Amino acid sequence: MSQPKTLRLLLGDQLNINHSWFHSVDSSVVYLITELKQEATYVPQHIQKLCGFFAAMSEFAKALEAMGHQVLYLTLDKSCDYQDINHLISDICAREDIQAFNYQQPDEYRLSKQLEQLKDTLEIPVFSCDTEHFLLPKDDIPKMIKPQKHNRMESFYRKMRTRFNILMESGEPLGGRWNFDTDNRKKLKTSDLEKIPQPLLFANDVAPILERIKRHNINTIGRASATLIWPINRHQALELLDYFCVYCLPFFGHFQDAMTRHGDNRWSLFHARISFALNSKLLHPMEVLEAALKHFYNRESSIDLAQIEGFVRQIIGWREYVRAVYWANMPEYKTLNQLNASIPLPDYFWSGDTKMACIKQAVDQSLDYAYAHHIQRLMVTGNFAMLSGIDPHELDEWYMGIYIDGIEWVELPNTRGMSQFADGGLIATKPYAASGSYINKMSDYCQSCHYKVKERHTSDACPFNSLYWHFMNRHQERFLNNPRTAMAYRSWAKMDTQVKSAILDRAKTNLDNLNNL
Ligand code: FAD
Ligand code: SF4
Repeated sequence: MSQPKTLRLLLGDQLNINHSWFHSVDSSVVYLITELKQEATYVPQHIQKLCGFFAAMSEFAKALEAMGHQVLYLTLDKSCDYQDINHLISDICAREDIQAFNYQQPDEYRLSKQLEQLKDTLEIPVFSCDTEHFLLPKDDIPKMIKPQKHNRMESFYRKMRTRFNILMESGEPLGGRWNFDTDNRKKLKTSDLEKIPQPLLFANDVAPILERIKRHNINTIGRASATLIWPINRHQALELLDYFCVYCLPFFGHFQDAMTRHGDNRWSLFHARISFALNSKLLHPMEVLEAALKHFYNRESSIDLAQIEGFVRQIIGWREYVRAVYWANMPEYKTLNQLNASIPLPDYFWSGDTKMACIKQAVDQSLDYAYAHHIQRLMVTGNFAMLSGIDPHELDEWYMGIYIDGIEWVELPNTRGMSQFADGGLIATKPYAASGSYINKMSDYCQSCHYKVKERHTSDACPFNSLYWHFMNRHQERFLNNPRTAMAYRSWAKMDTQVKSAILDRAKTNLDNLNNL
């Protein structure tokens, strides 16, 4: 290192090349980018996720160097001797006679607290700044989200649409409606399957990273390949975004909730697969919105309002909303378990070895590609876990590790809040609980399943059916008076006593044999 005075840290999810730090080159500044064992091991991670982050960090370092910046890039080989990131930074600062340390505020509470300690331990000025990524400045979160209270996503979303003037016309939502959710629940017909484009896959050589991960005995999950399909630099991230706008966006809204086993090499349907590029900050949410809106407003566009609105809602609504809920409620949020769920995660979440076709499809795909789309996460694995009473701590670790986009600020509210209702309703107004009929309605999984979706209590009945009623029955006190679950309780009340008893018995048998379903 040639006599730099300021050390600036860049974490693996802080790859924002347009950050103001990089607007000018300063020879007294060195950027530290480092692979870290603490980050690779704090939950078991998908091998593709580790490869994705390490490869993207390395590409980012090269891009900075090409711009003239000074970069210190450490692989696991160099960083493994340090107990954690703080020890590493302290040592570099002492060894290189660093005069000031800067970092961008982490999006994860854990890391944010860890780096804050450096303000006390380093004997040089420590300064932190914004990542300049999110649309809602962190200081504005308290104005939008009240801690420990339910804050409606829809209200948040409308305020964000207005604030950023997205899909608005004279102060009103374009087309006179804020939300086209009800138009976005189509099942895929056989003729629709042909419309699904093949996912744009990259072939990034990650063999040296794989070898390094192995050499450092890092325990990983999922299936590895010497070529990584995920984008690892800005060029690829932008290419993926463009591919989405051209081939997927025209159908995105309609088939947002659909699932199919006929995925083969079309496993991401009309979804964008940009969550890794967004969460690592290779892409900025505003440029994603602008790209999608440009395609929508193009005169020759075949993208209708329901499709673009569905997509805008994910980026400016859900993504910004869950991050705001996370920061408003941490660190307590991570401990919430309002439904007292405590059952261990079944083994097939790690292997896909189950007779339930829907779970098998979601898990196999996750192990193969580190990806499952939102409804697979919410209404298949998440729904099953909530109905079965799986411990949310174990589930959080699973979601965080297995998905390419797993980062706590977004994973935790989605898992604990939206999918498990473990936050008691801070995010969802009702539990996302559903029997097999929902999965049958939105997918073609049930046709090939060992279990019968129409059966409720026979030995080959779909496990979701009896588990659904068992869940509703055991949480009756909490949900009986909720208007959004009232209809289910009315159906339950009307059901024949013997049938109810047989359903509950079947659920009990399923829960006793959860690992063998
Ligand atoms: P698309 O369906 O194409 O959507 C476009 C973009 O919208 C996504 O890339 C994402 O940035 C954003 N988005 C959509 N839904 C959400 C949402 N509910 N919350 C936040 N952003 C959203 N997303 C993560 O990025 N990281 C996670 O760790 C994560 N964990 C999840 C866990 C559970 C239990 C559930 C139900 C959802 C989780 N999600 C998570 C949200 C969502 O499933 C993923 O963002 C999405 O599947 C990523 O794929 P995509 O890019 O193809 O998304
Ligand atoms: Fe899933 Fe039940 Fe359908 Fe089988 S029958 S795929 S277990 S919902």
